Amino acid sequence: MFTTTEIAEIKNSLSTPKNITIVSHRNPDGDAMGSSLGLLHLLKQLNHNVTYISPNAFPSFLAWLPNSEKVIIYEENATTAQKIAKNSDFIFTLDFNALHRTGNAMCMFLETLSLPMILIDHHELPDSYAKYTFSDTSYGSTCQMVYDFIVALGYENLLNKDIATCIYTGILTDSGGFRFPKTTPQTHRCVATLLECGVNNTEVYNLLYDNSSYNRLQLLGRALQNLKILPEYNASYITLSKADLAEFNYEKGDTEGIVNYGLTIKGITVTAIFIETNDDEFIKISFRSQGNFDVNQFARNYFNGGGHINAAGGKSFSSLSETVNQFIAILASEKQK
Ligand code: 5GP
Ligand code: MN
Repeated sequence: MFTTTEIAEIKNSLSTPKNITIVSHRNPDGDAMGSSLGLLHLLKQLNHNVTYISPNAFPSFLAWLPNSEKVIIYEENATTAQKIAKNSDFIFTLDFNALHRTGNAMCMFLETLSLPMILIDHHELPDSYAKYTFSDTSYGSTCQMVYDFIVALGYENLLNKDIATCIYTGILTDSGGFRFPKTTPQTHRCVATLLECGVNNTEVYNLLYDNSSYNRLQLLGRALQNLKILPEYNASYITLSKADLAEFNYEKGDTEGIVNYGLTIKGITVTAIFIETNDDEFIKISFRSQGNFDVNQFARNYFNGGGHINAAGGKSFSSLSETVNQFIAILASEKQK
């Protein structure tokens, strides 16, 4: 948590109406959007003028979150976004540890600003760009950190259904449905309070997970067909080529969660998905592991990325097949160490 002095300073600066910008990482997930919109609702209740700027578009499975229609998308509205951000008294940066996680264009812009930033995040090894940093990798989600931040500010009484629904969403998605190891008794205490604030857990689950298009399910089928195992390394991987995505009319968010299937095979402790999207000029990679296999370090060392010990992402500027070959070669060389 922030120190007591920092909390007092932040609370003091929130005592009169301010212009506040909230920024999350590129390709926002449930935790990025949930923490940003949850904090936005809270700050609005305190009479601040608050805008959430997302670097790029968010997936449709999150488009029901309260106030998601008011999110400014930097890639689509850079001029407006820049004007708003420049006009801010301060900027909250949520669910990421380095400004480049907002993508090249937005990162370059953010670096020109000399505004105080407040970082709240649970990824490994945060950069030191913020005036106030609340970085704690023991948390399973930024949403749970925002909840604790609200409590530390003494604003627990302001929690309402909208705030609670946003925060609940990020806790649910980033914990894989309360199953990942960072899900603690404290997580469940926090969730208990959120339910008391009116969260409809059945509805949230349905909106997130029972809202698939037929195409998305067919794409999942293709991904599972493409799944390969490497028993000698207790590893598996999935590839999705541009052609696979085109065949099933890929839309943003369609590949979310697919990587996890690679870990469901008995004996597999590390898995990856390699996706050749049209959105980016690189192969987007997600890594997942169980136990001690540190995919944060793996992604940092070899694939321009990072994240958490058991969930990380990265990118490759080689072709899909070259990237897969590199992955296999790295596993082989790591095994010899
Ligand atoms: P995903 O595979 O779901 O995109 O990402 C898994 C986790 O790693 C998420 O917490 C995500 O924010 C983080 N992550 C993904 N890509 C990167 C990256 O390039 N750098 C860092 N530091 N974290 C990443
Ligand atoms: Mn997160």
